[in-house]
Amino acid sequence: MGMVEVIKAHGGRVFQNARVTDVVRGPDGKGITLVFGNDKVVAEHVLLNLPRHELLHLDHFKAALPARTVKMQQCIKFDVPASLFPPGQKFDLGRSLTKAYAFYEEAWWHTRLNRTRGQWPDNAFVPLQTSVGIPIGIHFNDGPVRCDAPLVGCRGFLEVFYSPAGETFFEDMRPDPYHPLGILSANKDTQGHLARLHSAIMEATQPLFWAASTPQPLVAPSLLAVGVWDRSGEGYTAPTKVYYSTAPDIPGGPDPLEKACGVPGLSDAEYRRTVLAPLPGLGAKVVVANNDWVAQTTETMFGDWAEESLLQAERGLRMQGLKRPEWLDAAYYDKKVWNVLVGDSVEFGRRPTAAVVV
Ligand SMILES: Cc1cc2nc3c(=O)[nH]c(=O)nc-3n(C[C@H](O)[C@H](O)[C@H](O)COP(=O)(O)OP(=O)(O)OC[C@H]3O[C@@H](n4cnc5c(N)ncnc54)[C@H](O)[C@@H]3O)c2cc1C
Repeated sequence: MGMVEVIKAHGGRVFQNARVTDVVRGPDGKGITLVFGNDKVVAEHVLLNLPRHELLHLDHFKAALPARTVKMQQCIKFDVPASLFPPGQKFDLGRSLTKAYAFYEEAWWHTRLNRTRGQWPDNAFVPLQTSVGIPIGIHFNDGPVRCDAPLVGCRGFLEVFYSPAGETFFEDMRPDPYHPLGILSANKDTQGHLARLHSAIMEATQPLFWAASTPQPLVAPSLLAVGVWDRSGEGYTAPTKVYYSTAPDIPGGPDPLEKACGVPGLSDAEYRRTVLAPLPGLGAKVVVANNDWVAQTTETMFGDWAEESLLQAERGLRMQGLKRPEWLDAAYYDKKVWNVLVGDSVEFGRRPTAAVVV
């Protein structure tokens, strides 16, 4: 809420739970109308923080886009060169990329194992199979934990699975592809899922307890939270963006961006420039920043981080005439914001007097 307070202190107004249902450009190209169901707001400058499936459901907005732009926005790809996963690290890809966190009243990885970092197995992306049919891949550092003192009186979340490997136990916890969050608490667990999960975790981590000469905890987690990103292209997807590769060992042959997206002549610069300010003839009056709008080679992939969205937002705001915020490192800003915009030959506008951020 800190940011909201700063916005208000500067005279901004914040409307929560306001879902934008359309974006309509004015007939003279001046005002942009944001539609929120029965309500409307007309703005001079807009920054849309919307994922793919929401942006492409804004009817007037989509209708105003050139077909080439829509093709770029629709493009999702994950080229996987055979060399990406070394021998012994290969697995069958499933229908989703899923993360799962189990909440333990006793954070035993702190209290019994003194393990607060690292993975189990060494590459948790390739999980351990267990006899109860639930694969386990642990990141000991990833999950909030509270302790009375270091390693004493701890409770918290443990990441027990983060992988695109085929499985259904975690995946089935999400309501549907448009609602990636699934939560199972002990009082709703009529089928004993949490006990089964505990036995899978204990089976997978048994060697660690043996090595530490310490008994395993008997109490199952009291809650399981999962995030499931669909790999079939529906709803919240994984990948959410374009990872293309020109490596010779890509199934189907080298796949430059233009081929990956089916857009002749498409370059990284055109992709970035277009998805950032997609409406033609408006300059940077409407900019779009979201984790989904990235195209890069598989070889340069370093993860899906919030940094990507924040960079796009800074680039969009710079195009709208706003300078580097003073808290942002100048060298980083020059390299990742200013130089990229100049290299991409974008169109800069004048500093706005008022704007709407969605
Ligand atoms: C479990 C998990 C752990 C992660 N860990 C890290 C990490 O450690 N470090 C890191 O950097 N990144 C991490 N990430 C990734 C990071 O969370 C994302 O990269 C980042 O949140 C993307 O931000 P975004 O603003 O682009 O998209 P989102 O966070 O998806 O924001 C889009 C917003 O738009 C809203 N919205 C959607 N439709 C509409 C509409 N029609 N009208 C109005 N609003 C709408 C949504 O409700 C949402 O709030 C993690 C992600 C997950 C799921």
